[in-house]
Amino acid sequence: MHIPDPKALLGSAAAAFLAQPHKLLIGKDWVESRSGETLDVVDPATGKLIAQVQSADAADADLAVAAARVAFESGPWSLMTAAERGKYLWRLADILSSHAEELAQIESLDTGRPVFECQIVDVPGSVNMLQYMAGWAGKINGETMNVSMPGDFHTYTIREPIGVVAIIVPWNYPLELAVWRMAPALAAGCTVILKPAEQTPLSTIRLGQLVQEAGFPPGVINVLTGYGESVGAALSAHMDVDAISFTGSTATGKLVAQAAVASNLKRVFLELGGKSPAIVLEDADLDIAIPGVAGGIFFSAGQVCTASSRLFVHEKIFDKVVSGIANIARGLKLGHGLDPQTRLGPLVSSEQLTRVRGYLEQGRADGVEMLAGGNHVGGDGYFVEATVMANVSASMSVYREEIFGPVLCAMPFSGDIEEAARLANDTIYGLHASIWTQNLRNAHLLARRVKSGNVCINTHNFFDPAFPMGGYKQSGWGRAAGFAAIEHYTEMKGVVARL
Ligand code: NAD
Repeated sequence: MHIPDPKALLGSAAAAFLAQPHKLLIGKDWVESRSGETLDVVDPATGKLIAQVQSADAADADLAVAAARVAFESGPWSLMTAAERGKYLWRLADILSSHAEELAQIESLDTGRPVFECQIVDVPGSVNMLQYMAGWAGKINGETMNVSMPGDFHTYTIREPIGVVAIIVPWNYPLELAVWRMAPALAAGCTVILKPAEQTPLSTIRLGQLVQEAGFPPGVINVLTGYGESVGAALSAHMDVDAISFTGSTATGKLVAQAAVASNLKRVFLELGGKSPAIVLEDADLDIAIPGVAGGIFFSAGQVCTASSRLFVHEKIFDKVVSGIANIARGLKLGHGLDPQTRLGPLVSSEQLTRVRGYLEQGRADGVEMLAGGNHVGGDGYFVEATVMANVSASMSVYREEIFGPVLCAMPFSGDIEEAARLANDTIYGLHASIWTQNLRNAHLLARRVKSGNVCINTHNFFDPAFPMGGYKQSGWGRAAGFAAIEHYTEMKGVVARL
């Protein structure tokens, strides 16, 4: 695989950003970490250093929380009209749109993901969410109710912003996840602290600069780059943070929830891991199902929380479906994310490469059949081939655990939709699922039986600002889109007046 010099592929705006110092945004200022520590950011396609950013810790968290507190309590944000807040969100959406190519390139370079993905998903998805939540800002209403207490009472509710929200996101979709989490909190009137993953801090720093260009009052949006174990843990346990929004692995989500409860019982929103099933019934339209399932697992090299990592196919069409997906896997063009032709980029980090290789080796030792891929390629880059495994059994770690790589486990089934539902639900997770069939009755009956936050019929990885997204079981607490996302960031106050 030829890896071109990424500098030759980077536009002038993204290159200029990369050349700047990368600091923390606290209040109105870009500052260095109190400790003076920095952390290295590498290009996953080459393993080479591309930038250094500040490594914040608890002392920086204190400053950012204080800035967010002032902006919430006495700053203009919580005091301005909701409609005015909506205008800020819309203005930021416009600014993101006008920097679309630059943001896509920064995201692609930092995550390793193909730039075409960032162009069609990350940037437009961020813009759509800001615009959608801008519309909600002025529509967050209370209610009146008819109470049964004797006497004359006027009772009503008010939805008030919860306060200061810390937002911790992972490395797969740093910009889009930061925006998806902050937009409902800001629409509700909260102020936020963004903490990107240590592997991929760059687009969040650029977002902070664009937030300033949009004219947000100081302290409404703060950016802390740094390690999860230090600054992430400090935010989770902080006594003056009112809510925490965490997106990441289930194991870390449990630590965050424990810290949140043990400190000040802050409200916790969790979007966690998955091992999502794709179920292909006997009557599926295979021209749709085969590329659909392949896209569901190989997009972003499988580093998607909702990836279709477990495939259940009716035994009569099993061979045809898995060989079709294996053909697609072999045809995906591996390369540097910034190359517009690339369809499979590297994994995000050497740690993630080691982890995924460990699963491939374990799968081989357990006796899986590799129908495609199964290897690390590309020298110093963190590339793994698109992999299709058959002869998988339910006790294997490749089947049970979230691999977060381009690895599909395929299994035939012989029974009816009850059997398909039993297999799909045989997991600790419950984030996403897809059903591929031309039979509407079976599609909707099965959709009821599958225990997951989303069920897609004849599609996979469906995300929209209006469509709830979130997990059953150990995939999380709460929903990340629609009005449900705003509710997390509000307190409902009941008011009663004796008349
Ligand atoms: P991770 O849990 O290791 O890290 C996520 C974030 O948590 C990072 O910012 C990290 O710095 C921070 N963190 C680490 N330790 C912490 C601690 N002790 N306290 C506070 N913060 C801490 O996850 P990851 O490996 O970066 O991301 C992959 C995981 O994210 C997968 O499990 C994936 O399914 C999940 N994910 C879920 C969704 C969703 O919407 N459900 C979306 C994307 C990714």
